Amino acid sequence: MSKLVKIPGMVDPHTHMRDLDWSHKATFGTETAAAVAGGYWAVFDMPNTPPNTIDRAALDTKLASISQQAVCDWGVYAGASQADNTAEYAAMAADTCGLKIFNNATTGNLLISDQGMRAKHYAAWPGTRLIAVHAEGETVCDILELVREYGKRTHFLHISTAEEIDYLRDAKAEGLPVTLGVCPHHLFLNEDDEKQLGPYGRMKPGLKTANDVAALWQAIADGLVDIVESDHAPHTITEKESDTPPYGVPGLETTLPLMLTAAHEGRLSLERVVELVAEAPRRIWGLTCPPETYALVDLEATYTIARNTLIGASGWSPFEGMTVHGKVIETWIRGKQVYDGEQVTIEPGFGRNLFGDAS
Ligand SMILES: [Zn+2]
Repeated sequence: MSKLVKIPGMVDPHTHMRDLDWSHKATFGTETAAAVAGGYWAVFDMPNTPPNTIDRAALDTKLASISQQAVCDWGVYAGASQADNTAEYAAMAADTCGLKIFNNATTGNLLISDQGMRAKHYAAWPGTRLIAVHAEGETVCDILELVREYGKRTHFLHISTAEEIDYLRDAKAEGLPVTLGVCPHHLFLNEDDEKQLGPYGRMKPGLKTANDVAALWQAIADGLVDIVESDHAPHTITEKESDTPPYGVPGLETTLPLMLTAAHEGRLSLERVVELVAEAPRRIWGLTCPPETYALVDLEATYTIARNTLIGASGWSPFEGMTVHGKVIETWIRGKQVYDGEQVTIEPGFGRNLFGDAS
């Protein structure tokens, strides 16, 4: 028995596709392939892969590479640098989906912990495109101060605790222009799982308590959470098995099946899933879904997530062994089939930049 449903225009606004100096981990070709296998129309790439996307030259390098390889549509973020790159923003903003500011420790060297420097970036970024922030715990309040002061639209990425949810509930009640995303690993795994997963269960922000997980699900039910985003961050198995395993897990191929499984189990409605993975990100980034752009999913198909069910370059998942209820059968973008349920069916370079016209 099958039950086919079309989900139009899925967007993941939070991925780290690697490539460039980190092409041994993954490339724009391999990870946009993972994106269409996950049902996505478009993915937005973060700026902390070397060379960091902190000036016009680095942006041009990334745009040239991704436009040659991408099999889905995309956006790229500019990154805020410790070294004060605000003079670059005027020349970058129009070709990006927004500015990313890393306010707590993460992969790479873009951490900005000085509130005065954060304010400088907030003041300098052109208001037409939003600011996406990595902020944990009390740092959420520091960023909310800047939103209050500068009035710039801000998306809080990978919110993972009950405390952070409370801060953002208050911020929305206050009428601040904020949105928030949560990640599947923070919804479907907790700190107990990290003991079993070892390096495969380590990411930033890390896995949290069962109480925090419950608070995230409650915030989804309340309508407070805007987006479910993957924070797709592939590393090789060799790197994860090393003495110094890097933080980050892949997620593009598992986000929709996991959320459909939650819908199947009655934890949320199918309509809410569609809102979280497609409608809300399109609305927040001001995008219109092109005609004939959708994931065709079979809500009754079940399979177990395993290394051989994944096509992304890293070839592993923290969700290995979980049986999901809901499978991407085909993905279509702008009237072309790009994925047939097993492999990519479109040539590299088909994807377009959804922001600006540099590519
Ligand atoms: Zn991230």
